[in-house]
Amino acid sequence: MASRFESLGELRGKRVLVRSDLNVPLDRHEDGHSTITDDGRVRASVPTIRELSEAGARVIVVSHLGRPKGEPEARYSLEPVARRLGELLGQHVAFASDTIGPSAQKTVDALQDGDVAVLENVRFDPGETSKDDDVRGAFADQLAQLADCFVSDGFGVVHRKQASVYDVALRLPHAMGQLVATEIEVLRKLTVDPERPFVVVLGGSKVSDKLGVIDHLLGKADRLLIGGGMVFTFLAAQGHEVGRSLLEDDQLDTVRGYLSRAEESGVRIVLPTDIVVDNEFPSGDREPQPRVVPAGEIPSDGLGLDIGPDSARAFASEITDARTVFWNGPMGVFETPAFADGTRAVAQALTEVDGLTVVGGGDSAAAVRKLGFDEGAFGHISTGGGASLELLEGKELPGIAVLER
Ligand code: ADP
Ligand code: MG
Repeated sequence: MASRFESLGELRGKRVLVRSDLNVPLDRHEDGHSTITDDGRVRASVPTIRELSEAGARVIVVSHLGRPKGEPEARYSLEPVARRLGELLGQHVAFASDTIGPSAQKTVDALQDGDVAVLENVRFDPGETSKDDDVRGAFADQLAQLADCFVSDGFGVVHRKQASVYDVALRLPHAMGQLVATEIEVLRKLTVDPERPFVVVLGGSKVSDKLGVIDHLLGKADRLLIGGGMVFTFLAAQGHEVGRSLLEDDQLDTVRGYLSRAEESGVRIVLPTDIVVDNEFPSGDREPQPRVVPAGEIPSDGLGLDIGPDSARAFASEITDARTVFWNGPMGVFETPAFADGTRAVAQALTEVDGLTVVGGGDSAAAVRKLGFDEGAFGHISTGGGASLELLEGKELPGIAVLER
């Protein structure tokens, strides 16, 4: 047995609750069935589950999927994900149609040594994400009753103080899973003395979530390349018209602060000089009509949907001569091929770096796979967007801190 779980003692016959992150993107079809569009997080969860199963544990996997509002919603059921997990493990995976109710109890009671079960979406219970410690604690008590020990392996949620991430670890003997351990090891390399030049590329659509990391990186990175939906708050902060592009008005002053601090601290913030725009956000009903405009000349009815070709080339050359690169957030709406070129150029450049490259963020990781890159061409593809950013920000993550106590 691997030493990782030594603190849990002999595992054979023990019921081990594993918090995985099986929150994958699903396509729902009209006949009610759904298909997983990117199973990266399920695959990343397999090694720990397999290791526990091979050690003879009775493995109970708990995860969330999407953002249900604290009650069951068929479209957020983990059942199709449990099936996929079974295919990847090459063994039957039982599924409980509730999380702590009679089905969960019955499913767990029926487990034999080495068996694996998945519980229904943990966010179907409001106790999971409650801000009230007692409410969360009461739910965690119920979860803990199903098991003898706890393994934390859902890296995508370790920055959340939630029942199945945090509170349950206070109630059961616990250990870190392989995925969480690997993620932390790699991401800490970025914060402790990274090889230089250290370039950070930020994009995507969760602008305000990601601005915090800029604050921290101003003291750490050598260059900061900004793409994706984040660009427009920067362009607007510089006084440019951004049309109907994604914009966070209330962040303009913050961004102006970053721009002037960057100058003082010698960090170069690189913004795109050209933008691919269209008049509509891409949808299935309409052929995209992309056109390239200078970044300072976005028409008032235009939406910026990708960085332009000049910017893509400039970003690529900033990246390829780095020795450490962290990339979070697609450069454009890569889901539509007409707006995927910027993201492709950045991904390609990362594969050419002589040094450590880390891709963080669910959509960024999905983009890399969707665009046909070999995952092995990157140093590390993180399964956690928010969690990886918070680690980079130097914040203490509740789901890690609770394990290290
Ligand atoms: P990650 O999951 O990698 O952290 P985010 O969730 O922040 O990334 O953002 C991913 C989303 O950002 C993608 O669905 C992509 O379509 C969207 N996006 C990228 N560029 C733009 C843009 N210019 N305008 C609107 N959305 C964008
Ligand atoms: Mg995302």
